[in-house]
Amino acid sequence: MKTPGKVRIDRLRQLMNADGLEALLVTKRENVRYLTGFTGSAGAVLIASGRPLLITDFRYKLQAHRETSGTAILIQKTDFTAALREAAGREGVDVLWFDESSLTMEGLKKLRKQGLTLKGHRDLVSELRQRKDRQELASIRKAISRAEESFRELKRYIRPGAREHGLALMLEVLMREKGARKAAFDTIVASGRNGAMPHAAVTDRRIKKGDLVTIDFGAEADGYFCDITRTICIGQPTTRQREIHALVLKAQAAAIQSVRPGASCKSVDAEARDTIKKAGRGNNFGHGTGHGIGLMVHEGPSISPLSRDQVEQDMIFTVEPGVYIPGWGGVRIEDMVLVTEKSAKVLTTLPRELEGLKSL
Ligand code: ZN
Ligand code: ZN
Repeated sequence: MKTPGKVRIDRLRQLMNADGLEALLVTKRENVRYLTGFTGSAGAVLIASGRPLLITDFRYKLQAHRETSGTAILIQKTDFTAALREAAGREGVDVLWFDESSLTMEGLKKLRKQGLTLKGHRDLVSELRQRKDRQELASIRKAISRAEESFRELKRYIRPGAREHGLALMLEVLMREKGARKAAFDTIVASGRNGAMPHAAVTDRRIKKGDLVTIDFGAEADGYFCDITRTICIGQPTTRQREIHALVLKAQAAAIQSVRPGASCKSVDAEARDTIKKAGRGNNFGHGTGHGIGLMVHEGPSISPLSRDQVEQDMIFTVEPGVYIPGWGGVRIEDMVLVTEKSAKVLTTLPRELEGLKSL
């Protein structure tokens, strides 16, 4: 059986051939990990005619051998650029293509000084990463279960008087206790009026009875991330709180319902956006509806009004509309979906209805 790494390299070579790329330099850390399994912070992969070649330095010698298979490893003697020139010479590379979104002008200058002919291209490996294979799906599911279990446990700490940052910290501790090496991003706990800011920084505000609290969080597993948001109410929700929450839920459901291979990501976004607009709240939703997620919290595809991406089977992305009302607060609901043959499967399992924490 082919290893996931081999299948990924084969798919990359197909894309390279289609675009006429003879040799490709992969430098983005997530892309290097995706292709080789290597998790070190310094390393690049050369994909030419032979086996993929991972170039790294002495610090990662042992790790590179342990984490990779089917990959040749070159430990640079002096600097990376000299090692790359040597390798490219051995492989008979005339033009070395690179991903133009990841190389700096400085890096490019150094490589050119080595006499290498370099040409920029779009990031093919990130494009491949949008469709998840079975192994990736398993890791993402693991991240989700760590996050969701932690969220369930967090609920016993959510009460009037608890501070936003205390809850954010507790949630991160819980996720790490369950094996996550880190939180996917700085956990958001936005209560009361703070909820009107979609990416609110956590404050030391104490939560009050009657507040809506938006909690946006994610865990890690095998390098993969999840991203979930729930908005809960401290006590019994008011009619307005219920209405706004129901609207966001309706918008989210409309977007999820529209997901199918071949649909434009823009149209999925429009489903959520139009639902909110029709309710007269168009001005209160100003961010994209979702984003791909995997080795990075934010990756392709983009589910937004300007997106040119298309929905494809095996993609995993978030669907996270919100309504934000200055001076009042906000509601966001975020779930993760997997694109199946004909529709979307929701991977996250936490209840989505507005929960009023009763034991207050
Ligand atoms: Zn989020
Ligand atoms: Zn998100």
